[in-house]
Amino acid sequence: MARPILLAVDDDVNELEAVVEDLRRQYGAAYRVMSATGGQAALDMLAQLKMHQEPLALLMSDQQMPGISGVEFLERAQALYPEARRVLLTAYADTDVAIRAINSMHIHYYLNKPWDPPEEKLYPVLNDLLEDWQAGYPRSFAGLRVIGNRWSLKDHSVRNFLSRNHVPYRWFDLAENEDALKLLEERQLDPGHLPVVLFADGSSLVDAEPATLAERVGLSTQAAQDFYDMVVVGAGPAGLAAAVYGASEGLRTLVIESVAPGGQAGSTSRIENYLGFPSGVTGAELGRRAHAQATRFGAEFLTQRATGLRIDGQYRFVQLGDGREVSSHVVLLASGVHYRQLDIPGAARLRGRGIYYGAALVEAVSCKGEEVFVVGGANSAGQAALHFAKFACKVTMLVRGDGLSATMSKYLIDEIGRTPNVAVESRTQVLEAYGESRLEALKLSGPQGEHRVLATSLFVFIGAAPATGWLPASILRDEKGFILAGPDLRTGGKLPEPWQEPREPFLLESSVPGVFVAGDVRHGSVKRVASAVGEGSIAVQFIHQYLAGF
Ligand SMILES: Cc1cc2nc3c(=O)[nH]c(=O)nc-3n(C[C@H](O)[C@H](O)[C@H](O)COP(=O)(O)OP(=O)(O)OC[C@H]3O[C@@H](n4cnc5c(N)ncnc54)[C@H](O)[C@@H]3O)c2cc1C
Repeated sequence: MARPILLAVDDDVNELEAVVEDLRRQYGAAYRVMSATGGQAALDMLAQLKMHQEPLALLMSDQQMPGISGVEFLERAQALYPEARRVLLTAYADTDVAIRAINSMHIHYYLNKPWDPPEEKLYPVLNDLLEDWQAGYPRSFAGLRVIGNRWSLKDHSVRNFLSRNHVPYRWFDLAENEDALKLLEERQLDPGHLPVVLFADGSSLVDAEPATLAERVGLSTQAAQDFYDMVVVGAGPAGLAAAVYGASEGLRTLVIESVAPGGQAGSTSRIENYLGFPSGVTGAELGRRAHAQATRFGAEFLTQRATGLRIDGQYRFVQLGDGREVSSHVVLLASGVHYRQLDIPGAARLRGRGIYYGAALVEAVSCKGEEVFVVGGANSAGQAALHFAKFACKVTMLVRGDGLSATMSKYLIDEIGRTPNVAVESRTQVLEAYGESRLEALKLSGPQGEHRVLATSLFVFIGAAPATGWLPASILRDEKGFILAGPDLRTGGKLPEPWQEPREPFLLESSVPGVFVAGDVRHGSVKRVASAVGEGSIAVQFIHQYLAGF
């Protein structure tokens, strides 16, 4: 496959040559460096490249150009190459324009000229951007093919699992793509046992599911060691932060994650308010980076579901979905929350067949050109609506309250207002979902009374619940299932029965000594990426103090 392209645009020929020289010196071996002396010339060039399906990784444009400005060029280029990283080159005086462009045009970065030495001021930024681009670029398509049915929960889970773990695959919908049946017939496979995954070596997995697929796509499902200092359950922001701090400070750390690193954040389209990412970061990207960082420090990851917790003296045992156990001194529960289910007739039957919980980024592309409904009025619903708006012809947000201002951040409300194909229907609720094998219609109740609308996809974001049912009764929880820790364990000034230690529990310690809790799953936590990261990091400090007592 051709090397991906880096395109530099500047009307000042001397400056353009200098940029090209810097790019070639560092990236010439892996990328083709191209240039254009103006916005229009660059757009013409992009149209040609697109026609020939050439891969393009990066656009770097000067802001001050006659005719088409840098911001305008980058905005128009986005329509042709939405995945390419967009960098604006500015003089110091244009910094305000650049910051506005981050908000409105989603440019990824701005660089003040000059950037001498490039080793310090240019390459680190571009390395980061190119790494992000590569992570989403199916260059190394490994020949994995998934054959299934779009309107099936099982098939949806497999696609979601592969996407969340950054495993490239090609999707064949049995109902839409005639090659799908051919592929099955060639291998004498039964279309009644979907999804089928075909591997590059000619083998196949029938009735595939995440647990059986994990090992086949190179994810580890068995612990490498007999014993760990710390076992973390959940690789969301809280668990990943604990893994980075724990492993970097010498704790033998094992992280158990049932889906993929990133947690709920991994399913979000773009987190715009996490410190240090001025143009936002996708949850998947944050998860990928943190996973790489924790692995670099020696943390080990298992793709497994934790199904039980057993305490034996000073040892803690986490039971896994495949029946095995892992043992440690300390367990950190960082299993977060999952979406509350819609409690209306038809919703359970149509789950994964048109009704989805969470952002389900994997479904966004399938909704191309369709109308999509989103239930909920909080930030998560707003982010999802904006993401679907890039693919669907119309996104309708169904909001129970009077509007979005009480439940959503202003930056998202503003962006929804600027997006022409997103409509908000306030004081509206879903009463019923219709359809047998897939969602076909919804009954809504709104200001104009009850009515029925045709619908193929409904994405639900109506609050979250912790999945803590697998824990023993000795881990005390509040009435909603969130885990109590530290000072919250006291009722009427007294510590609960299970706590038999002569000392006070540490701030993030549960009712069982040596079992800690961090992030969304903790009672009273602030449900944000930054607070989950903070709690995961702080927990490690208390874990050190606990271990010092051995
Ligand atoms: C759509 C959406 C948009 C959001 N946008 C923002 C935003 O813009 N800014 C912001 O600050 N916050 C945002 N949030 C909130 C933020 O994502 C959460 O507060 C944060 O992810 C909590 O981190 P956590 O590690 O506690 O839990 P989670 O992110 O929920 O991670 C928990 C992990 O544990 C795993 N797990 C659960 N049970 C088990 C088990 N039994 N065995 C193994 N693994 C298990 C799950 O698969 C999951 O990966 C958003 C949330 C959503 C859903």
